[in-house]
Amino acid sequence: MEMSKRITGLTGGGSDGWDIFYRAREMKDAGTAVTELTIGEHDTGTDRAILDAMHAAGMAGHTGYTMFTGNPRLRELVAERVTARTGVPTTAANVLVVPGGQAGLFAAHHGACDEGDRALFIEPYYATYPGTIRAVGARPVAIAARPGRAFQPDPDEIAAQAPGASSLLVNTPNNPTGVIYTRETMEGIAGVCRDNDLWLISDEVYDTQVWQGEHVTPRALPGMAERTLVVGSMSKSHAMTGSRIGWIVGPEAAIAHLGNLATHTTYGVAGFIQEAACFALEQGAAFEAGIAAPFRRRRDMALKLLEGQNAVRVIPAQGAMYVMLDVRATGLSGEGFATALLEEEHVAVMPGESFGPAAAGHVRVALTVADDALAGALQKLVAFAARRAAA
Ligand code: PLP
Repeated sequence: MEMSKRITGLTGGGSDGWDIFYRAREMKDAGTAVTELTIGEHDTGTDRAILDAMHAAGMAGHTGYTMFTGNPRLRELVAERVTARTGVPTTAANVLVVPGGQAGLFAAHHGACDEGDRALFIEPYYATYPGTIRAVGARPVAIAARPGRAFQPDPDEIAAQAPGASSLLVNTPNNPTGVIYTRETMEGIAGVCRDNDLWLISDEVYDTQVWQGEHVTPRALPGMAERTLVVGSMSKSHAMTGSRIGWIVGPEAAIAHLGNLATHTTYGVAGFIQEAACFALEQGAAFEAGIAAPFRRRRDMALKLLEGQNAVRVIPAQGAMYVMLDVRATGLSGEGFATALLEEEHVAVMPGESFGPAAAGHVRVALTVADDALAGALQKLVAFAARRAAA
């Protein structure tokens, strides 16, 4: 029996860069000490106090079905957080609780696009974007943010693709580049959305990881609250990756429809997880800053370590838990660089090509190991690149 074209064509058939990740795991299993700088996950795990709250909630009986749109208290807390952080008046009716940012991206595109619609997204992109768009039956259209523009998208290039499209997906602070879209970029993007009647799906899962400049949420720009669906998550902000908890913030009517989608897909999010999420949000912004702090420190350390050499060029990360390196001076592709670095130096990084052609000749380094291990791996990486550049 054949599966639907929608699902058999979901990944698009290309390499998704995980070959390096699997090879690194194989090498580790065979006893080689590999430093893995591939995946965007904290090295600390979820805070003990959040786990205690989760356990207590389970023991107190939060183990049954929940409201499909989310626990009212959690929706309220998310609305308060969004109002405080962005200044945009937000109520519980603007919030849908979803099992993680990825589920939010899927639901938002489901809400914005009909079958066969064009859905725009910016490249380099988080690995799941094109597949998520295909999964709802829409057609992904990538628009490159180029290294020559410091990976800031060009609103004119988006405008060229916008007529007739249904949605545009943006992500700032950005994975994989670490770039934060400037206010000017965001205003340009908002203008394109208003002029072309697009839904703007704004992936803001890294909103607590801002090292330089300001994070401008497009929902706060004039005329945008009614056409923006913000995807948020506690994976990165609260080191709760495995708990699968996040939200969509948008216009009340859109959230009501997306609530119907939740009833027919996820059927809600586990009650003990939502209770733990309430506890975590009640800890406030200082707690979130504490979770983000190691990445700020390691980002500063990485930039310092990479000074004074020209074998690799660092894209100064303004946010998120990664730095991108331009490795074109070595004559290698991102994929060639990552493969050889793993085999020769036992350091695993993600090839830029896995985030789309705009990141070709780059690699992404996740700042997700202890400071010493990161410093050692970066030194090996630079020495490797210098050897290759000289060859
Ligand atoms: N969006 C971006 C840009 C990401 O990097 C990730 C995870 O790495 C996600 C969404 C999905 O996160 P989650 O589903 O864990 O919230």
